[in-house]
This record gives sequence, C-alpha cells and structure tokens, in this order.
Amino acid sequence: MSADLVITEIDALYTMDHDSEVGEQRGAAVAIVDGLISWLGPAKDAPTGTTVESARGCAVLPGLIDCHTHAAWAGSRAVEWEQRLAGANYSEILEAGGGILSTVRASREVGLDELTALTAARLTRMRARGVTTAEVKSGYGLNPDDELKQLRAAHEAGKLADVDVLGTFLGAHTVPAEWRHDRARYIQQVIHEQLPKVAPLARFIDVYVDRGAFTVEEGRAILAAGAELGLYPRIHAEQVTYTGAAAMAAELGASSADHLEQIDDAGIAAMAASGTVAVLLPGAMLTLRDPSPPVAALRAAGVTLAIASDLNPGTSTVYDLWACATLACWQMQTTVAEALRGITVNAARALRLDDRGVVRVGMRADLIVVEPAPGEPVTAGGLVQHLGGNTIRHVIRGGRLS
Ligand SMILES: [Zn+2]
Repeated sequence: MSADLVITEIDALYTMDHDSEVGEQRGAAVAIVDGLISWLGPAKDAPTGTTVESARGCAVLPGLIDCHTHAAWAGSRAVEWEQRLAGANYSEILEAGGGILSTVRASREVGLDELTALTAARLTRMRARGVTTAEVKSGYGLNPDDELKQLRAAHEAGKLADVDVLGTFLGAHTVPAEWRHDRARYIQQVIHEQLPKVAPLARFIDVYVDRGAFTVEEGRAILAAGAELGLYPRIHAEQVTYTGAAAMAAELGASSADHLEQIDDAGIAAMAASGTVAVLLPGAMLTLRDPSPPVAALRAAGVTLAIASDLNPGTSTVYDLWACATLACWQMQTTVAEALRGITVNAARALRLDDRGVVRVGMRADLIVVEPAPGEPVTAGGLVQHLGGNTIRHVIRGGRLS
C-alpha cells in the first residue's frame, strides 16, 4: 500500500524509542498513513508514497512538546524586568502588586478575541521552532469568567497556530488583589466556582506553592478538588523557597513537579516513588538567577526529566524550546540525550500522552525535519550544542507536511 507521505534519505532519525537514549538510526525513512506513523526503517526499503520528501542532510525527531507554558496573557512586563535588572527582587515586586498581578489586570481587560490572537501569535513562533504540542495554563484570570476566557483563548489559538494545546487550570497562581484580605475565601472560590466552570477545558490542575503564593496545605486541598473532577495534578514547586510541595504533589500522584531549584532528598525520593516527572525550566532559572535544580540527584534517584520553556511575560520570556534544551545542558548539566528526551518523549510523559513523543509505528505522525547549524554534521550533540543554530525545515503535525 502506498503511504500518504514518506520522509526519506534521513541522515539521522532520533526515535526516542529506547530507555535513556535517543535511538539513532542512520539513512532511515518514515512512512505516514492517515496521520499515523505506518512504517520506519532503512531508506532503501521505504514504501512508495503519494508525497515523498527528502531529508538529506537533516535529522528527524518527534515534534517537540512544550509541557509548561503560560502563553495566554496580555500586557507587558518589560519595565518590571528592567527594575529587576536594577536590583529589585521578584518576591518584593509580587508583594507590591506587580509581577503576576499586573498581568492579571491586563489579561482581564482584553476580550476573548484579542487574547486568542495574542496567544496564537506566540504559539506560531513556538511552532516555527518545532513545537507541535503545547500545554497552556490559565492563572491570569483568577475569577471564574476570566479563567474560562483564558483557556478558551488557549484552545482557539492552538487551532489557529496548528499546535495541539492541552489546558491546565491554574486558578491558584496567586491570590488576586481583591481577595488579599481574605485568602481563605479566594481558595473556596477556586475550588467551588472556578474549577467546575473551567474543568471541561482543562486536562490538568496546577498550584503555585511558594512564598507569596500558596501553602502546601492550601495546594493539597486545591489539587485534590481538581482530581475529584478528573484533572491530573501538577505543581509549581520548590522554586524560590523550599516548602515540601513536590513531596505533597507526588503523594497525590502528580504528573509533574516543575522548577525544583530548592528540592530536598525527601522530595526527590517521593517523586521517584510516584513516577512524577521533574520539569526543568532553565528560562525561569536564568531570568531569576536561581541555582540549578539538583539534576544529578534527580537522575540518580531515577526521576524522569522533562524540559519546558515556562513561557510567560515576567520570568521566562522564551519561545524557543530548542534553546531551553541547550540551556539545560549549559546551566543544569543535563546530557544531550536528557535534553532531547526532555523536549519529546519525557515531555509527553509529563502530560500523560502516550500517542506522541516517540517515532514508532502507530504513533501520531508529529515529526520535525531539522537542519543542523552551518558546517555541523548531523549528530544529536551538534543539534543541541548550537543555541539557535539549527533550522526547522519542516513541521509535520498529524501527518500534514508544512
Ligand atoms: Zn510556570
């Protein structure tokens, strides 16, 4: 049978279909039928195809998966960033009504169409660098209507940008200004008013547990309420201060715990025991000049490592997931295999997706054709080593070549 699309003469195919390795195959081809991978093997044995595309001089990988973004926002925090460069501290800015709160004000002010257009423009930039699936969090609405608006914008934007979007409800991002006098009532609103309204548009529930945000016990109550409605828990944990949040989320069976700059050995052990994925966010770490998460200890404990952009307007203005993989190697000492698996198969695992992130027969045909930096041979190391050096020649999503 003829395939719909055959990518052939691939210098290096990275399947990610082996534990801890990139699964390199030289001189390979991949065939696609009905949006799924139907065959892969040596190029000389490839089936015929309606469309045949040569990937000579290129690598082919699974479409990239950005498993942690806050891409649906309005407004600018460039001035605040300049204040931080001049020495202001992020927690002080947050406590003074800046930071997330300023983005909440701006995001509430715009309508659904404007927020959708902004989000689609961001997803389009991410896709140009190989992203075919992105998680997008709410958390800049912080009331039932605006949280719903944000997740609607995220899903509509995904259709416009041709990126598969998964929604995460993050009503517990921070306590909004109007509830600062009564945080307990705000948490009740999150659980009883926001959550039921937005749950149909979300796959995950997330809480930001840290100084100036939510406590471990508040986080536990919110995540448990989300789980009751069928949302998978995830968590922003151990970023600025150690709280024990990662261990709490792992006890609840969280899909991932993200940031982890301050995690301790007990938290690492709890994550390993529950299979909770550690999501590394080098953009935020570098912006805030935080120390690196303990990658060696996470690796030694057997915790799965994913890497994401954390794209947001204040603390990680990074649209390029490839760059995050490079930065994770430079600043966190992840290996090349960890970097590439972190933005493909392990990111899929953080999102509980078992139909992508790996090049294997039967998986979704989400693939990218990547040309290495000028003069660089096609190797996994060469693809990751050069910051912004490679070119995404094609993005294939659901079997459609573009
Ligand atoms: Zn985040």
